[in-house]
Amino acid sequence: MEIITYPHPTLRHTSKPICRVDRELRAIVDKMFELMYEAKGIGLAANQVDLPLRLFIVNLEAKQGEGEELVFINPVISHAKGSAQQEEGCLSLPGLCGDVARPKTVRINAFTLDGRELLIDATGMLARVVQHEFDHLNGVLFIDRLSDAKQKELRAELSEFEISHESRRSTGSILSDAEIANRLADWESKYCK
Ligand code: ZN
Repeated sequence: MEIITYPHPTLRHTSKPICRVDRELRAIVDKMFELMYEAKGIGLAANQVDLPLRLFIVNLEAKQGEGEELVFINPVISHAKGSAQQEEGCLSLPGLCGDVARPKTVRINAFTLDGRELLIDATGMLARVVQHEFDHLNGVLFIDRLSDAKQKELRAELSEFEISHESRRSTGSILSDAEIANRLADWESKYCK
């Protein structure tokens, strides 16, 4: 398992709700925390590790053993209030950042790995991270929410990611789009039906 980067097609995939949690899924979540800490991130969505499942993890401290490890399964966001602008980055777009406007506070409902219902009225950084990760589950990246001027400014860097993806695909180190789609369908039939 590894963190995939833009423009890997799974980052544009709309993830499917999870119907069951088993030992393998728990192991996947453990590995996701490991990868997130290695990359010094505070949030990671399942499709960032090439899995089409409605699940993301958060630890605002970005360090194992510190802060609280949160797992959000089948999250729903509601009660969005206010607006705040803040700089964001993404582990799938390493090195890029830009200001994104989002609601200041949101309510998030989800399930934990133990099937417990989670309800958090999030503000500040937590509100921002859950909205960023929730976007991932719908195939949305923070660059989609940047101003036109900022998007233009980042165009050259995005092209570099695109060229690198293309070259890795041509050498076979990334699967073809059809193979990726088949893989995602296999995962969906395992956890989403
Ligand atoms: Zn991200």
